[in-house]
Order: sequence, then C-alpha cells, then structure tokens
Amino acid sequence: MSAGLFRAHAELAQERAVTDALTGLLNRYGLQRALAREHAEARRYDRPLACLMIDLDNFKKVNDTHGHSAGDTALQQVSTILTEAVRRSDMVFRYGGEEFLVLLPETDLEGAAALAEKIRGAASARLFGDGEHVFTLTLSVGAANLCGNESGNDMIARADLALYQAKEQGRNRVESALCV
Ligand code: GH3
Ligand code: MG
Ligand code: MG
Repeated sequence: MSAGLFRAHAELAQERAVTDALTGLLNRYGLQRALAREHAEARRYDRPLACLMIDLDNFKKVNDTHGHSAGDTALQQVSTILTEAVRRSDMVFRYGGEEFLVLLPETDLEGAAALAEKIRGAASARLFGDGEHVFTLTLSVGAANLCGNESGNDMIARADLALYQAKEQGRNRVESALCV
C-alpha cells in the first residue's frame, strides 16, 4: 500500500471512530476532543461556553409500541431537528442511545435556554416515524454554561443534573443549571 493510500485509510478509520453510524453525528469520543478545544478557547479568550443535554421522553415506549426500526428513524429525525436549529459554529453529538449533546461556543446560559426551548417546541410540534408508524415524541433538556474554573465535563455533569430535574418535573421541559 502506498503511503498516500495508507494515510487515507488511517484518516477514514479515525473519522469512523468519532462518528455515529445511525445519525452521522459525532459520538462521545468526538465530543471529548471538541470539548477540550472549546474549553481551552473559552478560557483563553474569556468567552462564554454552554451546552445542552437532551434526552428523548419515554423512548422505550416508542420502541415497544412502534418497533426498533421506527425508533431508529425517529433518532435520525431528531438529529435533523438539532442540526437545523443550531448555528454553524455549534456542534451536535449523539451522546448515548437516545441522548444528544449540543456544544455552544460564545453562548451564555440565557442563549442556551432559548435554543433549548426552540428545539423542544420544534420536536413537540411535529410527527415522527416512517410511512408505517407515525407518532408524536417529546424531549427534555438540561442547559448549563461554563462556570468559574470548572472543566468541560463538570459543565456537562451539571447539564445532566438539570436534565434529570426536567424529567422529574414532568418531561417535555427545559431546565437550566445554576453555577455551584
Ligand atoms: P425517560 O423519559 O425517563 O428518558 O424514559 P425512556 O424510556 O426514554 O428512558 P430509558 O432510559 O428507560 O430508555 C431509553 C430507551 O432508548 C431504551 C432503548 O431501547 C432506546 N434506545 C437507545 N438507543 C437506541 C437506538 O439506537 N435505537 C432505538 N430504536 N432505540 C434506542
Ligand atoms: Mg436516556
Ligand atoms: Mg429517554
């Protein structure tokens, strides 16, 4: 194999390692790389950074009722909602099974919560599924901004806590995390 071809293969393998096959979004590994970069930038230039942790509501029931394949289609549709709602400089990741994370450079908590509300509203106002199975779907969001001298993962942990509160308070909601 030529050096050029070897390099092309290596690059493709690396890209696959950080990309989620179902949605085409970056995965959790891709997130860690982007988070380190954005956290460093935010610190260096004293700029805001925020994130949204998003989890689909009662998604197990969607799978149970409409099948795993319709569930997969819904995950792709949610990923499209997210990528269409954000700015070019924002980044959307598939964090886990039915969890997504949006990383928002240059964004404060108020801006993050406003975007979260836009996403929540968009999802709740449309139908999901394929030709055979059509259903509604809602999502809950936890928003957090980078506080004090915390790490990027600290910020994500607080967004996750806010998400948990959104679930506790009935789902289809946005909750914002306070600095600790
Ligand atoms: P909650 O509102 O509390 O989040 O309830 P939930 O049912 O969404 O939460 P739970 O964590 O119990 O279930 C998540 C479900 O997401 C279960 C799992 O089968 C489904 N899921 C995770 N990854 C995928 C996937 O790639 N495709 C499909 N179709 N379903 C998935
Ligand atoms: Mg979940
Ligand atoms: Mg869920």
